[in-house]
Order: sequence, then structure tokens, then C-alpha cells
Amino acid sequence: FFFKQKTEYEIGVRLVGSEMCIRDSSNTVVTGNPVIDIQKIRKDFPILSQTVRGKPLIYLDNGATTHKPLRVIERVRKFDAEEYGTVRRGAYKLCEHSTQLYEESRKKVAEFLGAEKPSEIVFTSGTTQAINLVANSFGKRFINKDDEIIISNIEHHANTVPWQILCEERGAKLKVIPVSDEGELVMKEYEKLLSNKTRMVAVNHVSNALGTINPVKEITQKAHAVGAKVLIDGAQSTPHMKLNVQEIDCDFYTFSGHKMYAPSGIGGVYGKMDLWEEMPPYVTGGDMIMKVTLEKTTYAKPPARFEAGTPPISQVIGLGEAIDYLNEVGMDNIAAYEHTLLEYGTALLNDIDGVRIIGNAREKASLISFHVDAAHPHDVVTMLDQDGISCRGGHHCAQPTMIRYGVPATTRASMAFYNKTEELDALAESIKKCIQLFSE
Ligand code: PMP
Repeated sequence: FFFKQKTEYEIGVRLVGSEMCIRDSSNTVVTGNPVIDIQKIRKDFPILSQTVRGKPLIYLDNGATTHKPLRVIERVRKFDAEEYGTVRRGAYKLCEHSTQLYEESRKKVAEFLGAEKPSEIVFTSGTTQAINLVANSFGKRFINKDDEIIISNIEHHANTVPWQILCEERGAKLKVIPVSDEGELVMKEYEKLLSNKTRMVAVNHVSNALGTINPVKEITQKAHAVGAKVLIDGAQSTPHMKLNVQEIDCDFYTFSGHKMYAPSGIGGVYGKMDLWEEMPPYVTGGDMIMKVTLEKTTYAKPPARFEAGTPPISQVIGLGEAIDYLNEVGMDNIAAYEHTLLEYGTALLNDIDGVRIIGNAREKASLISFHVDAAHPHDVVTMLDQDGISCRGGHHCAQPTMIRYGVPATTRASMAFYNKTEELDALAESIKKCIQLFSE
């Protein structure tokens, strides 16, 4: 192994499955270029020092929601205690200050996603509301009878149901990109689905059920070649990788703050300004108007047109703080570290008889979905919980994906950069115990 000359790590070597791993003095696996100081990172998250059922908390449900670093919690507390005011409405100091912070957060999101300008970011309560916004508004303006919308077989229900309803309402057709046994979109079939009838292609960047990282740039290029627009559901990618929506060239890109170490109730969607400008409002009321008379209403320019009502102000400030934190840790560092967790966990689970990983795409985020032959996922997660391990068991709001793989549900371990390899060791041991118990 090649290490930088001045390493503070005490090197030990251990075999995990067929993989060779290097561990530091605290028994944590490191790569040839350690990028995350895991002990320091863990101290940033107060909840991680808890015990659950007398055992240290091992939190492996980051795909559902992530925990918050203290500085995000403190920033929201300080804002609420000392700075809080409504946004965009008043000319007094508190309002001015809150509005400034609110718009600064929009700027941080725009930079984080690589958008051209902050006004391309519309805040919503999260990805679900973001996709509903686009499906309804874009749909009203651009989708007509016999048009076609393409999704994939590995979408969250949030990126399925709004398009289904839109198709029913407008007489359009929903087409579905199939997925291979390994969990990769079958790109040849995708190409066959595209035609001059395609108006929208809506796929996730990372599948929450399998962990697959989809080739969104290629998907976008192919869709644009037939004149279709592209929405990328970024709920599972934004916490894990450096992004640039301009490089992807997608038309819309969604995110959820609560999966990015920020408060819940806030998220949003990037959209290209020329599209936003052509789209009608979805939710209507205060703050989204230019002028209202009893006869007629004209609408504000985007993004305000799509942000009716008082927004979740404190949550937006918390989101900005979470983004500052992620930038300081470094998205490339996070991706590299989480990849070591993925490889480590995959090797461990592959070594257990009676465990089958579902989703073995070549490109994966740090999420492992698996089936335990001996027990239902709900029993598995109940057993894991006895050992202090929080894992998700269920269909992950992706029932069509479960049907595709012939399982009612899976158990899912989804890792964040505050997880450590010891926690995956504990997961493997707990699964073995569970198999033993259910096989008796
Ligand atoms: N898409 C994907 C891929 C997701 O994982 C999720 C959340 N599990 C959503 C959409 C919905 O996100 P939210 O619940 O934050 O609106």
C-alpha cells in the first residue's frame, strides 16, 4: 500500500472477505489517502453519543433522514431566539435581516448545486413537493394528449405518482425504463422509449432502494436530443457527491434538506430560468403575485411565483448552515470516505450465508439493500434495533422496484460520513444472530 509519507496512522492490515483493508489506531478503515477525521466528525453530531436499548446508537437509516451537526441546531436556535422575523414583507429591521439571510441561503444552495444564479432555486418543503410542483406546473403548460413522459423502474413514489396523475389528467402516456438484475437502468431500452412525443424524462440521480448512481448526464443528453426536458430527483445524491447541474444540463434538480444534515420541512428544486419563466404557479396566495384586483391577478417573477405563503424561514437558515458545514468537510472527501464504507459493508454482507444484496450496480452511493432469507425485513430491523442499530425495513416507497426484484421489501443500511466501519461490523454480527435465531 502506498501512503503519504507523514501519516499519523498506525497501520494494520486485515482481511475482510476478499478485500484488503487498512485500519488506523482506532480500528477504523482508512484508504491510502485518509480524508475524513471520523472521531472529530462524530463529535459534531450530538445524537451519535446516545445509547439505544443500552447499546451505543448505530444509525444506518441516513437514506430516510440524516442527523444534524450541533452548529446547524445552534444556528437555528440563535436565529429563532435573536433574529427571527418574517421575510419579504416588512420594511423593519428584523424583516430586512431575515430576508437577507433567507436569500443568502438561496445563494448557498445555488452554489452547492452549481446553478447559474440563485433565482433558479425555488424552495419547497422537500423533494416530494418539488416534483409535485414541476409535474403540475410544467404539466399544465407543456403536457397534452398523447404526449409521453418517461420515468424508470427504480423511482421513489414521489417521482412516480405525480407523473401518473398528470398522465391520467392530460391523456398522456407514462413509459418506464427497465432495470437490469444488477440494478442499472437499461440504456438501450431507454433510447428505444425516446421519441418526438417525449416531453419529460424524470429519473433519480441515486436510487433510494438500490443505491444505484444513474448516468444522469447521458440520460439528459439523450432526452434533449429528442426535445424532451429532464427532471432529476436528487433527494439521495445531494448528501453524497459534488454536483453541478449546469454540467449535467438537466432542466430541474430536486433536493431535501433533511437528508443533507439540515432541518426537516425544507428542500427545493433548481430549474432553468427560461422554463420557470414560462411556467404557471402551482400553489397560489400571498407573496407569489405582482398585482391582484378582484378581476385579475398577475404573477411575480420566479422564484417568488412558486413560493406562495410564509416559507419555513428558520429551516431555510438551517439549510444554509448545513451547506456551509458540508462545504467545509468537502463533498469530494465525503464521497471518497463513504465509498470505503460501501465497499467494506458490501464485502461483509456478501460473506454472510443467507444474505443477498439487491442492487449491485457498478456505480453506487453508500447504501446497501439486502434480503435475509431466514426472516422478513420487519423482523430483521426489529432484531437489529435490539442491538441499538437503526436500519430501514420496507419497500422504501419504491414498490415497483420491489416487484421487479420479486421481494415484498428489503432491509436497507444507508451510510453517512459520520458512520464508521466498526458499526458495519456490528451490523454484520447482528444479522448473523438474527439468521441463527430465525433458522432455529
Ligand atoms: N426521492 C427519493 C429518491 C427519496 O429517497 C425520497 C425520500 N426517501 C424522496 C424522493 C422524497 O423526499 P421527501 O420525503 O424529502 O420529500
